[in-house]
Amino acid sequence: MIYLDYAATSIKREEILREIFDNKEAFDGNPASTHASGRRAKAILESSRESIADSIGADPSRVIFTSGASESNNTVLASFRGSKLITSNIEHDSILNTVDKENTIFLKADKDGMISLEDLKEALSEDVKLVSLMYVNNEVGSIQRVKEIGEFLEDKDLHFHIDAVQAYGHIDIDVEKIKCDSLSLSGHKIGGLNGFGILYLRDDLGAFIRGGEQEKDRRAGTSYTMGAYSMARAFEKTKAERAKIKEVKEYFIERLKKTGIDFEVNGKLENASDHILNLYFPAFRSDFLLTYLDMHGVCASAGSACRAGSLEPSKTIMSMYDEYRALHSIRFSFGFTNTKEDIDKLIEILEEVKK
Ligand code: PLP
Repeated sequence: MIYLDYAATSIKREEILREIFDNKEAFDGNPASTHASGRRAKAILESSRESIADSIGADPSRVIFTSGASESNNTVLASFRGSKLITSNIEHDSILNTVDKENTIFLKADKDGMISLEDLKEALSEDVKLVSLMYVNNEVGSIQRVKEIGEFLEDKDLHFHIDAVQAYGHIDIDVEKIKCDSLSLSGHKIGGLNGFGILYLRDDLGAFIRGGEQEKDRRAGTSYTMGAYSMARAFEKTKAERAKIKEVKEYFIERLKKTGIDFEVNGKLENASDHILNLYFPAFRSDFLLTYLDMHGVCASAGSACRAGSLEPSKTIMSMYDEYRALHSIRFSFGFTNTKEDIDKLIEILEEVKK
């Protein structure tokens, strides 16, 4: 199998699973228990928190563990329910399907998948209490100018939230430089276990899951020690793999150019994360091409995994271009298992379709 759908979820990392398995007893206890087993698990949980906090330049006390970025995003939106907010029309569904559309201004991404600071300035008014934008787009990989936006918003009386799921591990994130008030991350996109993420919060927004005293009373529920450990370890590994991932993506584009297959890049290559490549193939419908690729052992997607079960064209590509293009585009996303040999095989398969 050639797995090219890392933006949906990463292949899990055997070394990390083995570390957990080999050290299983250390993960067994409930970190809230005061006995030895609980204390061992708590030590892992808190050292993972320190590593994750360090990976985004945050203080560990500001990092809250959650079940993933959907929960983190929903939590921030819930805290501003009833207020006017600004987001973009290319956000993840955990934002787009949660906001109250009546109270929301949607900034429109341009053909490069970029949100303009000028548009944001124009849309801003005193009653806007939340601006929520993604760092790296999950479909086309565009990297937003979050630092510039953060600097502009710094002295405004509002909350600036970043969904940095697709940026994590692939580009450097520093919450102090971005000047954001909150930031969502997920572990499974980089090879951590599914169902674990964080919400970085500069200032508390109150308790969002009530029950036990976990996460300093802010988010109840028995802590997911393995999830935290796997995310912290996966970050270190992903960071070290950046050059390799970039090389694989560039190699794919170079080889594809030589096939004579008609294609265009959705978004702008120079401003995209190295792990995402979204291509428009005017001659092939994406549902046909994806099925063909799947039959030949290649996993890719036509957009966000949350929409993979539906035949709807990607909302992101539609808003950046048009429906025809959305129905003829495919996202390839790369990760640590990918090699140039994978790309050679993929090119062979694509050359077959061309015939
Ligand atoms: N935000 C973005 C940009 C994503 O790509 C995803 C993943 O699908 C999410 C949020 C949701 O993350 P999770 O699967 O951890 O809930």
